Amino acid sequence: MIGLECHVELKTATKMFCGCKNEFGGEPNTKVCPVCLGFPGALPVPNKKAIELTIKAGLAFGSEIPRFSKFDRKNYFYPDMPKDYQISQYDMPLCKGGVVEFWLENGARGECRLTRIHLEEDTGKSTHAGSSDGRLAGSTYSLVDFNRAGVPLMECVSEPDLRTAEEAVGYLEALKRTFVQLGVSDVKMEEGSLRCDANVSIRATGSTTLGTKAEIKNMNSFKSVRLAIESEIARQIELLESGNRVTQETRGWDESSGTTHSQRSKEEAHDYRYFPDPDLVPLEFEAAWIEELRSTLPDPPFKRYVRYVDQYELPTKNAAQLVENPAWEVLLDGAVRRGVKPKSYANLLLGDVAKKQNEDGLSEPAATFTIPASSEFVKLIENGTITSKAAKEMFPRIWSGEITDPAEYVKREGLAQSSDRDEIKKFVDEVIATNADAVAEIRKGKERALQFLLGQVMKASRGKANPALVNELLREAIGSG
Ligand SMILES: [Zn+2]
Repeated sequence: MIGLECHVELKTATKMFCGCKNEFGGEPNTKVCPVCLGFPGALPVPNKKAIELTIKAGLAFGSEIPRFSKFDRKNYFYPDMPKDYQISQYDMPLCKGGVVEFWLENGARGECRLTRIHLEEDTGKSTHAGSSDGRLAGSTYSLVDFNRAGVPLMECVSEPDLRTAEEAVGYLEALKRTFVQLGVSDVKMEEGSLRCDANVSIRATGSTTLGTKAEIKNMNSFKSVRLAIESEIARQIELLESGNRVTQETRGWDESSGTTHSQRSKEEAHDYRYFPDPDLVPLEFEAAWIEELRSTLPDPPFKRYVRYVDQYELPTKNAAQLVENPAWEVLLDGAVRRGVKPKSYANLLLGDVAKKQNEDGLSEPAATFTIPASSEFVKLIENGTITSKAAKEMFPRIWSGEITDPAEYVKREGLAQSSDRDEIKKFVDEVIATNADAVAEIRKGKERALQFLLGQVMKASRGKANPALVNELLREAIGSG
């Protein structure tokens, strides 16, 4: 059984309790002030935007948002925590409960309950120098950078509802997609804006008692989450089967060896001596404000995925790809309302549109790419009015908005697919006459040369010729079957 604790750095302009910039990187200790360094007498002021983003995240997963919340001090000593305590939340988090729904690569669906989502401040970052692997052991000195200290950090704690490493990754992807869509966070694991710990315990089939859990830390990619959990499950099974016991502890994940190793035995909550932060007043929310936030929420990615698969009958893989680009939702729905088959329009989005966006460095289609023109265009492909070759030529002009009425354009330019034998025969004879070498090669059995000639005929006909008919007439003329 697997439960995950995820720390997500929020995308705010400034830190949680001061006006310092919330930005990744930069010269060490340049984005700091007396508040985030914990100087005596410096008073924290909560960042409203961070509270708002956390509540939005909770609302997206159906969490309950209590009217009252407060910040507590979590006391422990660590060199990258300048105050010797962290401002966090203990018994009154911003969000309680909720459910994260997710899908797996194979199309299976799952869900995992959330225990809570609370808000805290991030710590600084230590760098241990002089050791070969960057760890404290063997290092000669350590450096601390407090630029990250005080960055708003949202912690999502799940119930132990996940069963496999795949489900854990599916859950994390669901969190990531939702947070990116809501603008809550960049969710870049490599920059540390999403960090996660996994609690893993196993139990015998049919048993209802939970085994002792171990917590794994230091996983810095979805892939390492999967590998670490798989390795930890195998380790615990081996321990139990050889008559040993699993001890409750924190284990680090070592990417290079592919194993977890013991770090320290787990602290209990009372070790942190939590108490309400006397510098911060308790929070009280207007119900109307919460409702206003709720009303701004877009369709969650999972809901769109389910709609694409169940209603539009798209393959699960395509549905997952479409969800990654929220701007496509309006286009796809608009095209379907105009009578375009979802699958045909999805092909355009995942093919030409994705390629063009990529080339132009756009995160969404250009405004010149409209629902009416693109829908009409796909219909012309769907009903065979134009060949895929003609479509390829037309697409850039649909994209740029040059063609606003594709049907009219096809008529005007005479681009409609032609199945007129005599007309195509003329192009075929022409191409055969000017490509004697290729004809000779085909007679020797080289099929590739036939593809070349087919391309030439298509070109000569400006993409109008019905390719199946061209193929037939070419073979007939050359006498190769
Ligand atoms: Zn500061």
